[in-house]
Amino acid sequence: MSVIAWLSTKLEDGRITCDACNQHCKLSEGEYGICGIRKVEEGELRLLTYALAAAINVDPIEKKPMFHFLPGSKVFSFGTVGCNFSCKFCQNANISQYPKEHHHEVIGQSLSPVRAVELALEYGCKSIAYTYNEPVVFFEYTYDTAKLAHEAGLKNVYVTSGYETHKAIDTIAPYLDGMNIDIKGYSQSFYKDICGASLRPVLDTIEYAHKKGIWIETTTLLIPGINDSDEEIRSIAQFQAALDPNMPWHVSAFHPMYKMLNIPPTPFSTLQRAYQIGKDVGLNYVYVGNIDDKAHETTYCPRCGEIAIDRRGHIGQYVTNHLIDKNSCPYCGTPIEGVWS
Ligand code: SF4
Repeated sequence: MSVIAWLSTKLEDGRITCDACNQHCKLSEGEYGICGIRKVEEGELRLLTYALAAAINVDPIEKKPMFHFLPGSKVFSFGTVGCNFSCKFCQNANISQYPKEHHHEVIGQSLSPVRAVELALEYGCKSIAYTYNEPVVFFEYTYDTAKLAHEAGLKNVYVTSGYETHKAIDTIAPYLDGMNIDIKGYSQSFYKDICGASLRPVLDTIEYAHKKGIWIETTTLLIPGINDSDEEIRSIAQFQAALDPNMPWHVSAFHPMYKMLNIPPTPFSTLQRAYQIGKDVGLNYVYVGNIDDKAHETTYCPRCGEIAIDRRGHIGQYVTNHLIDKNSCPYCGTPIEGVWS
């Protein structure tokens, strides 16, 4: 189903600017945006994947990954085809790049915002995640769903590459409770050559959404020989520590995917090194992901070092939340930041 993509501006020359993401596509009649799912038709920018979900799952919230957000709860998760990035290591390229690789075809199953909220409630979820592909490219669909979700007492999470415009964030902020934002690397060449994007707008989104009071966690997929030098890892950690040392950082293992099948998986030692760098520069919560390392998936109190949230079982199944008074270390009472209820 297609709807008018109202996050857009009509220009005097007849073109339309899409205001959803920082690719800032300026489109003439019949043209598609970089994401492949927003197109000008009959003088209007239209979103082609409204209520058309290409992937739907009920997941543990820890899988997003969100570790300081309703721990141990289930999250109703969906996404569409299309993406504003073209990461050569994409783990969901079969949907994210689908329109670009299939002559602009869009596919999916019908899932209206109302039905998404109904299913989330039926499955006992506490939140809805807009994920698998970049949520801002199907912005109007996420907005309508998130609004209904809030009315039903559910929270909302974007799992995103962080390319939202300020306008997009301002618009969705009243309904958006959490974001996991990728910091895919810390060089412009990495973003340009590997992802088809730029670094600065991503950092800006993190700063802006954080200032708006949205709970943010970040993820960095460490790719051997590409973005895993001490210098690059430290730069990411320092950026984040300067912004907020209590913002969780997930360092995650790469597995050969899509156009990077010739690169080996991330060694365990690289993740341990990144974990240590993150802690050394002052981040209170660093987590290791995509690899079996339960000790580094656990939340430790930054003051006394005791376990505050235990995730040593299979992900999402054995989360034990020890926090007292909803947000504090059970041993020394230090507040642990997050969205706990
Ligand atoms: S959401 Fe799509 S159409 Fe809009 S600016 Fe981004 S890439 Fe372009």
